[in-house]
Parts: sequence; structure tokens; C-alpha cells
Amino acid sequence: MRTRIHGVRVFDGERGAGVQDVVLEDDLVVAVCAPGAAGAADVEVDGRGRTLLPGLIDAHTHVFDGSLAEALRHGVTTELDMFCLPRPLARHRQLAAERDDVADLRSAGLLATAPGGHPTQLIAALTGTLLDPAEVTEIDFVTDPERAADFVEARLAEGSDFLKLVIDDGTVHGTDLPVLSPAVAGALTSAARAAGLRVIAHAVTAADVVTALDAGVDGLAHVWADLAPHDPASVRLARCVRDQGVFVVSTLAYFEAVDAQGSGAASCVPPGRYPAAVGALRALRGAGVPLLAGTDATPFAPAHGSGLHRELALLTQHGGLRPEEALAAATALPAHHFGLADRGRIAPGLRADLLLVEGDPTEEVSALGAVVDVWRRGRRQAR
Ligand SMILES: [Zn+2]
Repeated sequence: MRTRIHGVRVFDGERGAGVQDVVLEDDLVVAVCAPGAAGAADVEVDGRGRTLLPGLIDAHTHVFDGSLAEALRHGVTTELDMFCLPRPLARHRQLAAERDDVADLRSAGLLATAPGGHPTQLIAALTGTLLDPAEVTEIDFVTDPERAADFVEARLAEGSDFLKLVIDDGTVHGTDLPVLSPAVAGALTSAARAAGLRVIAHAVTAADVVTALDAGVDGLAHVWADLAPHDPASVRLARCVRDQGVFVVSTLAYFEAVDAQGSGAASCVPPGRYPAAVGALRALRGAGVPLLAGTDATPFAPAHGSGLHRELALLTQHGGLRPEEALAAATALPAHHFGLADRGRIAPGLRADLLLVEGDPTEEVSALGAVVDVWRRGRRQAR
């Protein structure tokens, strides 16, 4: 089956690529060429006045039943899950493998935290509603650097695609929580690296970010949110992040949602942190740190799919990103930093995960809300 989207403005994952014809065959993009150059196809899609983008990638979510279908409706074709219990993860993974009407998934599986550390208080609050008590018992903790390799081994056996560390001493929550020691964080990072896994750290204060950097992580799952917007310490820390080659997932929509709702069952920071989060983001952008768009989507807020549209709007309105930078932060950049070589860009030979919208999101990202069509692994979604 051959599909041609003709006369469409293309954003290729990195930049605007002009008006093209894009041809799909089965699950792949097979040609991107001048209008009319590709010949006819079984299915013709009018791209005039519209923009074709790589399917979006949300670099920070938490997947629950229904999340992957909701994400795909908004053109998010891949979700990077930052914590999921083993049995639900197996279910979601099977769904994503067998069906094309849900987003694809990569996941950390169980995260590494200290006994009683963040987010065990959230897990306790959600057990019996969103979380099955029988599945919650599978949570594993690490207190001894000697056990780091075993912990990573167990995650690999469960199918984790990367390792998530939580380095959060509770100061931003106004409490005092047990936290992974620097020795354990370092040992886990080394063990994960040795096993070929990337390591992403949850750290929401500048001090916890320093611990994460010292451990040698690849990425941060949030911006920090404890320094005033123009604190020079943010600029210095952003330079350290850059010098270590670490990427950062934005999650502005998450901080915004916490401010809007107050601290709820699914939040890990108190309200009022949004300006600090924006300040950290601007410092990181100024330093040239790779920024990946992520939402921390849950069944609460931000929502799967539409939350990523909101994230990109905030990145451009408050974070200072140009629309093309924001779009790259949700396509080519997360694919690159998570090793997803088959997606995140529009080019021959890559997976046909595509989003067609009315208008031009490279001028104004709110155009992403005007979804016309979504293809997942070449399968056009019913609308
Ligand atoms: Zn999260």
C-alpha cells in the first residue's frame, strides 16, 4: 500500500524543509521529493495549506491504561515513560507492539530510589485507585552500592529501556525525604552504563542536580525549580550541565499544572515553582544544553498528548524557544538522545510515524492543535 501526501509543507524534525510530496509504503517513508516527482499512489492525501511533521515524542510521561491511545489522538506517536510498575509495563508494551491505534512506548520500568524516598508517598496515595496493591509490592529499593548491578540486572529482565534515578531530598516539598546516597547513585549509573542503558535522573533542586551530574547521568527528567528566575547560580549550573553533555527534559506544563491545581495526589513539588522552572529553562537554553520536550503526563494533569502541545506552547511563549526549536525538542532531539534511530525525523527509510496539521506550526506551535491525520507505523488513524 502506497500513500502520497502531496504539496505539503514539511518540518523534517530539525527544520522546515519546504513544500514536498511525501510517500509512504507500508510502515516506512520511502520518498520525500518535489511535488509531482513521485508519481501516483493508492491513497492520495491533500497536503496543501498543511504541515507534515514526524510523530511527536513526549520525553517524560507515566503510562496508565488508556494513556497510549490518548497520546496518539494528539499526534504523539512515542511516549518515554519514566516510571511504571513491571506488570502494567508488560501490558502496555504488548499493546504497543500488537496495535497501531496506540502510541509506541519506551520505559524506565521501576525507578531507583531510597526506601521511603520520593515518590513512595505518591505511590501510597494512589494504591487502591490507580495502582493495584498486588503490583505495588514489586517495588525494589537500593541502599548498598554493592547491589547496584543486581538492581540494573532485574530492570533489564523486566524490559526497562533506560534507568531512572530519583535524587530528591524533599527540600522542595518542604519535607525531609530519604535520598539515594551519591555512592549508590554513582554505582547505579556505572552499572546501567555497563549494561548499555542510558540513565535519567529526577532532580528538582540545584543541589540534587549537582549530585546527579556527579553520578554521571545522561539526562535530567525535569528542570530545577528552587532558584529565583534570574539567580546567577542557575547560569553557572546550566554551564555545568552543558559541559557534561547532559540533556534536560523541560516539563514546564507539569509545573504549570501544579500551580493551577495546588499540590495534588500526583504532584511532587508544591505550587508556585513555575517561574523558577522557566528561569532554569532559560538558563539551560542560554548555555546551549539540549532541551527535550516532556510533560510528566499522568491520568491527572498534564494530559497525555494534548499536554505536549501545551508544553511546546510554553517553551515558545515563556522559554524563549523559536517554534522550530520547540518542534525539534519533541521530534529529532528526543529520538537522538534516547537512541531511537528509526524515528523523530521525516526521511526515506524511517518509520512512518507522522502528524499532519492544518496551518504552519513552524510559525506558531498552536497549529499543532489542528490535527488532520496521524500515521503510526504507516497506519492512518481513523478520525
Ligand atoms: Zn515523572
